[in-house]
Amino acid sequence: MIKYLSTRGEAPPLSFTQALLTGLAPDGGLYLPDHYPHFTPETIKGFAGKPYAEVATQVIAPFVGDDLPLPILRDMIEAAYAGFRHPAVTPLSQIDSGTFLLELFHGPTLAFKDVAMQLLGRLMDHVLKERGARATIVGATSGDTGAAAIEAFRGLEQVDVFILYPHGRVSDVQRRQMTTVEDANIHAIALEGTFDDAQAILKGLFQNEALRQRLNLSGVNSINWARVVAQSVYYFTSAVVLGAPHRPVSYTVPTGNFGDILAGWIAKRMGLAIDRLVIATNANDILVRALAEGRYEVKGVQPTQSPSMDIQVSSNFERLLFEAYNRDASSLRRLMAQLGQSRGFTIDSGPLETIRAEFDAISVGEADTTAEITRIWRNAEMLIDPHTAVGMAAAHRHAKQHASTSPMVVLGTAHPAKFPDAMEAATGLRPPLPEHLAEIIKKPEHFTVLPNDQAAIESFLLDHARAARQA
Ligand SMILES: *Cc1c(COP(=O)(O)O)cnc(C)c1O
Repeated sequence: MIKYLSTRGEAPPLSFTQALLTGLAPDGGLYLPDHYPHFTPETIKGFAGKPYAEVATQVIAPFVGDDLPLPILRDMIEAAYAGFRHPAVTPLSQIDSGTFLLELFHGPTLAFKDVAMQLLGRLMDHVLKERGARATIVGATSGDTGAAAIEAFRGLEQVDVFILYPHGRVSDVQRRQMTTVEDANIHAIALEGTFDDAQAILKGLFQNEALRQRLNLSGVNSINWARVVAQSVYYFTSAVVLGAPHRPVSYTVPTGNFGDILAGWIAKRMGLAIDRLVIATNANDILVRALAEGRYEVKGVQPTQSPSMDIQVSSNFERLLFEAYNRDASSLRRLMAQLGQSRGFTIDSGPLETIRAEFDAISVGEADTTAEITRIWRNAEMLIDPHTAVGMAAAHRHAKQHASTSPMVVLGTAHPAKFPDAMEAATGLRPPLPEHLAEIIKKPEHFTVLPNDQAAIESFLLDHARAARQA
């Protein structure tokens, strides 16, 4: 049975459902399984042609172990993906001879975050109901996580949801997806700061043990292990379509918090034949600099047309570092203390080589992103959103720099209709929102503007969370 360990080594090991409800470990670390389940090439071959929910059940079940009965897990997975607007859930389409697009944006909020969040909401609600407990979910969002979390949790009896987003720094559609919800358990907070400020406050909230207990705090950011696992599934479903396990496949992933690409690395640990993992970033290129120079160093956030990647501290990278340091938690504590004190640290040469052996990293600027949207529209008659375009441009550059025979899959992380201005600038076309979203333009908005100050957020939570009243 898999247990979950903190990357900082100073929190007790947890079961799957405990890690699910805990989110960030109390020592500030992130949870990882004590070992990875392994699938044989025959098992992986058998995934070909199976419905998405069935592959998901097979991939996720070993991580859950005895914590949930398999039929219940299977039902939740089926319900989570029944609402997607494509029967394949995450279909694959061909862009050119060696390049494919994995469309992850057919869920209710049109971003890949739905894939994990639709399952996470069901898992949490089930586990809390069983325990007769209420939880307070707080999340920080650069746009898409908040909408996906709100959509997955709205109206649930056991949970209140508080989403912090950077005031004025998310797109109109993203904001309206969060603020036009009428359910009383949903609270959108416009923070007077950046996404990194929101993420820092979130970490602070989780480290306030008294608050954490009183509100039964839980997290849905990509630091939540269950999200990473749910995202590993589509690496399996896409790779078998392209000939895995015989033929290895490479992936390029538009990256911010490193959750999505980490899920690919985890799939590889489980036995999937993955060749290169290419980290694609916009101008916020901390990971590109870290791989090139060995120096992970925080700089100011630059706003771009791919706002869900406008972040500097890439939280899930800590999980990869932990593995690259052979799971030495004391090294992680040292690096993270340096990050807290001096906004940076140097990756030692051994771990750096370990990371470079599997990952490449490419940064794509604003003009190249727009040019890529235009190019794909001209060549493939396909509209891709700015996040996906960063990935597509990086994959294109990667193909020129490296002779590789493995097919390249670019993860399509958002629907183009979410970014109509960028689409119009690059192609002259304004894709309409799907019908179920078009109505949010007319609905009244509900949100609270709060200062970039942890104490102000804490008192707001205490005033509004139902878990606080029970105590
Ligand atoms: C969240 C998000 C990303 C970045 O994913 P990470 O897991 O944070 O690296 C990329 N594109 C879109 C559209 C997103 O919403």
